[in-house]
Formats: sequence, C-alpha cells, structure tokens
Amino acid sequence: MTAIRDLFGRALRNLRISVTDRCNLRCAYCMPEEEYVWLPREELLHFEEIGRLVDVFVGLGVDKVRLTGGEPLLRRDLPRLIGILAAKPELRDLALTTNGVLLADQAVALKGAGLHRVTVSLDTLRPARFTALTRRDTHARVLDGLAAAARAGFTSTKLDTVVMRGVNDDELADLIEFGRTVPAEVRFIEYMDVGGATRWSMDKVVGRAEMLQRLERRYGTITPVAEESTAPADRYRLADGTVFGIIASTTAPFCADCDRSRLTADGMWYLCLYAQQGTDLRGPLRAGAGDEALAALIRPGWQTRRDRGAEARLALRDRSPLVEVGQLRQDPHLEMHTRGG
Ligand code: SF4
Repeated sequence: MTAIRDLFGRALRNLRISVTDRCNLRCAYCMPEEEYVWLPREELLHFEEIGRLVDVFVGLGVDKVRLTGGEPLLRRDLPRLIGILAAKPELRDLALTTNGVLLADQAVALKGAGLHRVTVSLDTLRPARFTALTRRDTHARVLDGLAAAARAGFTSTKLDTVVMRGVNDDELADLIEFGRTVPAEVRFIEYMDVGGATRWSMDKVVGRAEMLQRLERRYGTITPVAEESTAPADRYRLADGTVFGIIASTTAPFCADCDRSRLTADGMWYLCLYAQQGTDLRGPLRAGAGDEALAALIRPGWQTRRDRGAEARLALRDRSPLVEVGQLRQDPHLEMHTRGG
C-alpha cells in the first residue's frame, strides 16, 4: 500500500490507538494531579468502530498499530479488539504499551488473540521508589507481568523508562542489567514537557548525551547501531552485545521522520503528540459516514500536516510545561494519558 505523505514527505504509517483514558497508576510525569476530567464512557469507540477506522487508515498507508491508554489493559475484553486487529493482514506490526500491572493476568489471552509484542513501562527497580513515583503499591505486579509475558511467548519485549534527574537517574545500569534477565530491550526516554507533565522543568531532564556518558563510564565503549528506521529510539550496543535505546524527544527530537498519528479512545485524531487540536472521527462514523467519507476526512489532514511539535519546543528559549492545569480540565484531550504518549 502506498502511504499518503504530509507536507514534509513523511508517510502515514503508524497509528497509536488509545483504548481508554483511565489508568491504575499516577506517574509523576504524566498524572501528577489529584483529580481529572474523564472521557464519558458512552463516547468511547466500540471495538467494531475501532476496527472500521483502522481499515480506513490501512487504506491510506498505515501498517503499524500500537494500543495505548491510559492503561490499555483496563479496557474490558481487550483481547477481543486484538483479535479484530490481528485478523488484518496489512498490519505488519501490532503492539501494546502497558504499565504491566495487569499483564500477568492477561498475557496468555493477549498472545492467543494475536498481539505481536509488548512494551512495558517501568521507571524503577526499587519498590519504595515505585510507590513514591506512581502513588500505587504495585511494583511486584509489574515484575510478575514481565515474567508472564515471557512465559506466554512474547519476544522483542521493550522496557520503557522515563529518566528524571534526582528521581531514577541512578538506575540506568541497573535497568540494563535487569533487562537482560527478562529478557527485554531497555529504552530510556527523556522527560518530556507534553500535556499532563505539569511539573516538568528542563533541569529535571537527563539528556541523551549525559545518559551515554554515564553508561560509558560503567560499560566502556558504546556503539550506535546503524539502521534505517522511523522508530523513535536511537539504539546502542555495549561491548558484550547488549542493545538498549534512547528516545531523545526533548534534546534531539526526531520529528523529521515522524510517521505517527494518534487516535483517542473517543475517536479524536491527532497529528502530533503536541497538537492542540484534533479531528473528530467518532461523530461522522456514528452519523453513518462510509469508508470513503472517513478517508476524505483523514487524507487532507495528513497531506497538509506540518507538525514538528518537539522541534518547535526545542527552539523555545524559555521552556515551561506545555499546558496549564486549567486548560487540561477544559479539554482532557490535551492530557498525555488521554492521547496515548
Ligand atoms: S513531536 Fe510530533 S511530529 Fe515530532 S516526533 Fe513527536 S509526534 Fe512526531
């Protein structure tokens, strides 16, 4: 399938679908507030509606889908959606990002339904630190979830860690060592100033260069892995062959290759993690729009896309959180946990 392209020649290939805005953790970099405005349940897309929209996106070039949230495993009966999507041969990659808390219960069903691979978010190996960071006491369940994923037969598992100065930046090597045992490829993500990160500040960001310096002190020479990819992580190899990634969204954005767009659980489509406005696809879908009418909404949106959100942020002299709490209350679609980070 020839993918449609945006104004910078970037193909539409990758669709991230948030299946719920709810989460069972309260990570400090994503959901630091006490209260949230949730999407009304009746506005959430049904699985068949998601399947239809994916068909339309596939017709325009999408061949990779990642399910996100919130925490996607909170969506009841998620394996049924996986089954609907796994039956589409055009999707060469079907992945899920989860915080892992419910993974032990669901790993076998997810694998059986046809999910290709999982990415588990884990920011610390220390239970007390996990509780402080997430305001929930479920560290052991995440570790159980990782073990269950391996037992269920998942391979190419990734472990995503948001690195924050003074919070968990002393665990880089520990996480690499842990990743070997799972096994999972660890990816360190720079702390980002996206919606929901209302406590973000540049001095809490540990940039890629600093992470590499610290890891070189521990492991010696680190070699970049040469590969053609639009994936957000730059990958590196240690002398013993262990590979890890760094997603340098804050200090070295990768917007130039960005083939991702995002669909929220209630059917709003966003062209960029930083986009302030999206396109409502649920309304037309429920009003009876056919596939071609839906494609006619999506196609011009992508073809006139000029979003380079992270690069625009990098160019700012004074950087502060992207969105204020009041704005997030007015439009919860600006939240990272609604948009699927
Ligand atoms: S900031 Fe926007 S354009 Fe840049 S990589 Fe992220 S989603 Fe893509």
